[in-house]
Amino acid sequence: MRYEESELRAIIGNFIIEGELAKIILYGDGLINQTYFVETAGESSPDYILQNKNTNIFKDIPGMMNNIQRVTAHLKAKVKQAGGDPEREAMTVIESKSGEPFYKDEQGNFWTLYLFISDTQTYESADTPEDAYAGGKGIGKFQRMLADMEGELTDILPGFHNMRYRFQQWDAVLAKDPVGRKKELSAEINWIESRRAEMMDFWKLVESGEIPIRVTHNDTKINNILFDQKGEVLCVIDLDTVLSSTVLNDFGDAIRSYTNTGLEDDPDLSKVGMDMRIFEGFTKGYLSEARAFLTESEKHYLAFSAKFITYEQVLRFLMDYIDGDNYYRVNSEDHNLVRTRAQYQLLLSIEAQMDAMNAIVKESCSTI
Ligand code: ATP
Ligand code: MG
Ligand code: MG
Repeated sequence: MRYEESELRAIIGNFIIEGELAKIILYGDGLINQTYFVETAGESSPDYILQNKNTNIFKDIPGMMNNIQRVTAHLKAKVKQAGGDPEREAMTVIESKSGEPFYKDEQGNFWTLYLFISDTQTYESADTPEDAYAGGKGIGKFQRMLADMEGELTDILPGFHNMRYRFQQWDAVLAKDPVGRKKELSAEINWIESRRAEMMDFWKLVESGEIPIRVTHNDTKINNILFDQKGEVLCVIDLDTVLSSTVLNDFGDAIRSYTNTGLEDDPDLSKVGMDMRIFEGFTKGYLSEARAFLTESEKHYLAFSAKFITYEQVLRFLMDYIDGDNYYRVNSEDHNLVRTRAQYQLLLSIEAQMDAMNAIVKESCSTI
């Protein structure tokens, strides 16, 4: 839904802002929410970011915003302690006139307002080891600053990266086989089943607390990090998916997406694989921050987490294919199968390089 400027002005009227509203324009390249840049007149008042939240994906916006307020309050305290600027190095949620961290309009749409962080640089993708290092450092720093935050966040995406839950879904879909696709897929199903025990063994360590529950970001794309003009990490943004889980999910998912030399749905499997130079860059950047707080267990499973998250993605694509394509948007009948095969190729590439990955983790943990 597109909004007229007059409608947007009326929405902003429900928040307490400084200065006089000048203009509101669609902004950025986010795929999930509709984002607007809100400019105020003159230099003395700040600008803002207005978002129309995607309620198809996020069912509990009050829970989400409560999480974001807790996380940003903790980050701001840390930034202050370190002598930094809490309004540039952490997101600032602007409350509505009724004192809530969002405004709900008459149609039931949720709107949020943040301070706009100016004079920053962003990268669209991490194509070099140096960019990957910067991305890894951003995520590592974010996690480090939140490593001592107490209490769990509201679980706004139930089941997310939860392997026990995934296997329950998997078993149910296989038992049902609603569109009769299972019979053609014995090799692919075996890709999942032959690694099931290994994946559950890891997940049990998360369930038992051997691998701790911490604050995780869950959307570690490099365009969710703002860098300052010198190229230093300034602020991690897009906190919609902050959750309590293992920080290894953030690491593993970043490796899955940053290092793939092909596309997530590449029909040409010869293009797909994990680029070790990008792995090394990201891992060194990440551990330059994260080695200060990670436990021995977390360090031990760091490289494995890339395998875990990539495996989960293979499972989810294949499960959706068997289920008749209900979750991921498809542009052909076998799109989810093409995705399954491409992610599996990436999984094989990660498995083949696991020793080298572990060696890089070890080396980066001990560098002073
Ligand atoms: P995604 O597809 O990554 O989930 P999204 O729809 O959730 O995106 P955001 O990433 O939150 O949207 O915001 C979109 C863009 O707006 C960001 O990539 C960034 O460029 C810009 N942006 C968001 N918040 C701020 C902020 N507080 N200060 C400056 N720029 C911001
Ligand atoms: Mg984003
Ligand atoms: Mg987002």
